[in-house]
Amino acid sequence: MNIVKRVCFIGIGNMGWPMAAQLLKAGFEVAVSDAVAGRAMEFVATVGGTAATDLAESAREADVIITMLPTSAHVATVVEQIRGSLRAGQILIDMSSGAPAATQKIAKDLESIGVVVLDAPVSGGVSRAITGELAIMSGGEAAALDRVEAVLRAMGTTIHRIGPVGAGQAMKALNNLVSAGGFLIAVEALVIGQQFGLDPAVMTDVLNASTGMNNSTQKKLKQFVLSRKFDSGFGLDLMVKDLSIALEVGRDHAAPTPFAALCREMWASAGTMLGKGEDHTAIARLSEQLAGVTLAEKK
Ligand code: NAD
Repeated sequence: MNIVKRVCFIGIGNMGWPMAAQLLKAGFEVAVSDAVAGRAMEFVATVGGTAATDLAESAREADVIITMLPTSAHVATVVEQIRGSLRAGQILIDMSSGAPAATQKIAKDLESIGVVVLDAPVSGGVSRAITGELAIMSGGEAAALDRVEAVLRAMGTTIHRIGPVGAGQAMKALNNLVSAGGFLIAVEALVIGQQFGLDPAVMTDVLNASTGMNNSTQKKLKQFVLSRKFDSGFGLDLMVKDLSIALEVGRDHAAPTPFAALCREMWASAGTMLGKGEDHTAIARLSEQLAGVTLAEKK
């Protein structure tokens, strides 16, 4: 079994940057690439590694190619760009929160040239990417997953093997469906409570000591909503994309999706209302506007 040493990491945005940094820290040789001009050089200057100035060349030299891009469409574009340079025996890991069907299509295509595709999307946000404590949900061949175990371990503390290629991404979309629904209902509860006269900060404390607790009540309401910072580092457009994938998975498999459909509709409406470039936590403003209030801690 060839030891994995060289990694070509494509997409060093909010998540990819700290993830690639963890790989360097673990001793891998990392070449980074990003569509934003100068970002790879900035990474090399501040963190280390090399810039994949000739992406095809860096992809050819790598044992493992990692993509951490916004959507499966971005991944398909990059794969098209590097396909001619790939060699049999290489492994491509798509760590983006992508669409299972699109990843399976790429996997089938690259199988014909001997390249194995795995999907390994992550959860935990920027903060856990920085500490290398992401939750990773992987899909694909067990033998290939064994080969890249050390690579994934450098970025995450839990690695669940979910099933065949695409299964990790189906799981990730469904995780975000639960997360998105939990966030929205928690904000709605704060709005109702504030109208009644409750303090949303006190409400958050009570939820966190009670059965209403969820990841959003613990890690988002005070930190990003009541603080009015709205800067978790996870874009609202990316959440809408994840919810669309969850719905697609449900519809492709004839599963009823009433809550998922409503949830996606609300997140998509917030995207339209707030415009591009907003953090996902800014969706709280949709609930506030519907009620004609602004959430604020009582002084
Ligand atoms: P981001 O927008 O911050 O980063 C994506 C990066 O990809 C950008 O730097 C962009 O320039 C680059 N890129 C786009 N097209 C490219 C191309 N053709 N070639 C090279 N680089 C290209 O997004 P992010 O927040 O880092 O998220 C990446 C993926 O991880 C998404 O699928 C997202 O849903 C998922 N995710 C994000 C978080 C989070 O908290 N931000 C958490 C878990 C999963």
